[in-house]
Amino acid sequence: MQLNFIANAAVPSSSGRTIAVIDPSDGQPFDEIQRSNAEDIDIAVRAARNCFDTAWNRLAAAERGRLLMRLAASVAANAEDLAQIEMRDCGKPLKQARADAAALVRYFEFYAGACDKLHGDTLPYQNGYSVMTWREPHGVTGHIIPWNYPMQIFGRSVGGALAAGNVCVVKPSEDACLSLLRVAELAAEAGFPAGAINIVTGYGYEVGNALARHPGIDHISFTGSPQIGTLIQQAAAERHCPVTLELGGKSPQIVFGDVDLDDSNLNLIPTLVNAIVQNAGQTCSAGSRLLVEESIYEPLLEKLGEAFARLRVGPAGLDLDVGPLIRQSQQQRVWDFLSDAQVAGIAMVAQGQVVEEAPESGFYQAPTLLRDVPVMHRLAQEEVFGPVLCAMSFIDEDHAVELANATRYGLVAGIWTLHGARQFRMAKRVRSGQVFINNYGAGGGVELPFGGVKSSGYGREKGFEALLGFTTLKTVAVRHG
Ligand code: NAD
Repeated sequence: MQLNFIANAAVPSSSGRTIAVIDPSDGQPFDEIQRSNAEDIDIAVRAARNCFDTAWNRLAAAERGRLLMRLAASVAANAEDLAQIEMRDCGKPLKQARADAAALVRYFEFYAGACDKLHGDTLPYQNGYSVMTWREPHGVTGHIIPWNYPMQIFGRSVGGALAAGNVCVVKPSEDACLSLLRVAELAAEAGFPAGAINIVTGYGYEVGNALARHPGIDHISFTGSPQIGTLIQQAAAERHCPVTLELGGKSPQIVFGDVDLDDSNLNLIPTLVNAIVQNAGQTCSAGSRLLVEESIYEPLLEKLGEAFARLRVGPAGLDLDVGPLIRQSQQQRVWDFLSDAQVAGIAMVAQGQVVEEAPESGFYQAPTLLRDVPVMHRLAQEEVFGPVLCAMSFIDEDHAVELANATRYGLVAGIWTLHGARQFRMAKRVRSGQVFINNYGAGGGVELPFGGVKSSGYGREKGFEALLGFTTLKTVAVRHG
């Protein structure tokens, strides 16, 4: 049974209640986590505050950096173990779980190096004054994390917050806690002072809500759905607590007629496939809408359909192209979208295959390519959060922009064209936080600021930019005659 991790100790929740941990590959319980409540959050916040006042805030920035570097090395040394944990807990094919562990190492390395590079400015003012700005930590930061990439999101959120000088209380998703509980243990072994990283598990409406409302939390980083993002903002607004919001997406891949579909250097078809099937489509930045210029719509769909038909889905341990969805309700959600597609007469181009070894009780969904999806249909508007790609064609650049911007989301856009001026025009006109031209990101993108516009949220995490959100600016004016 797993316990909470507070002040460098494994502790049971005060409720004495637990939640079963289900393996998505076979739908069976294999462990338990604590079902914590507001009392446990209070204990964790007090531990964090004590750490901030007596230890963390007294460390030189370079010392914080050394600790983060030590944690990076420890995660690297335990990467295989962490990947195995994540594989079972989240149903991630091993290669994905390994990539997530590698990204976590990179986040800690990146933020280790950033600790002593964050500085303020000196400002010209009236004669006889010297004015400077200091970047100061908020204090105790709360982190609410979704289930789709626990290690990666912990790395970018907690890594950035610690580097900026904060201490953290983390509420992972009730569906994906195990790897983070292990990482917190590794941090204690690496020498992090008690209370710097605290993990409290449980349901969002209980313990997540308590974290968002706790008066001792000085900043909240929330990554999750737009609906819960609204609740977090409402709770935070009551006490004017700053929030970093990283929400959902319905990201377009926009392919113009000038690209060569077979250009191995461009790698278009494999990139389009990976962008929607990685992590079984349960990715905020999934390229879930495919907008293709009329002239190449049919040939592209033909090649893409062949690639979809080759995809194999099965238990995470088999390390196939696609693993199971996280839980039964997520599987049901994807089925509901697909049955709506059927009712609306939306045509399916191709589907991958669930392998015979996949247990009936696992949460599997074959990757599905749909065509001519009406732009206002819910399949083209809402986050399916499964391996379902909606294709539609466009007539010209203006039409492509209109379709790309026609959802409430604005997280990522992929633009595929060799036409230089068009690349820039499109990058300017598409409303999103990130634009990838002739690629769709590579590796974890640890160095690149990430976040959205519109209902995708307004936070920026990853890269150096994240440190600005995890600090507050103090202006100091000195009069010296
Ligand atoms: P979710 O919003 O249901 O849950 C996210 C977290 O919030 C979980 O830890 C959950 O327990 C907690 N929570 C739930 N109800 C709460 C409440 N009332 N108060 C406080 N906390 C509460 O999202 P999910 O299903 O875990 O994750 C999928 C969503 O996350 C998708 O919309 C996806 O696009 C988004 N996401 C965004 C990014 C990004 O960087 N923009 C990254 C990953 C996932």
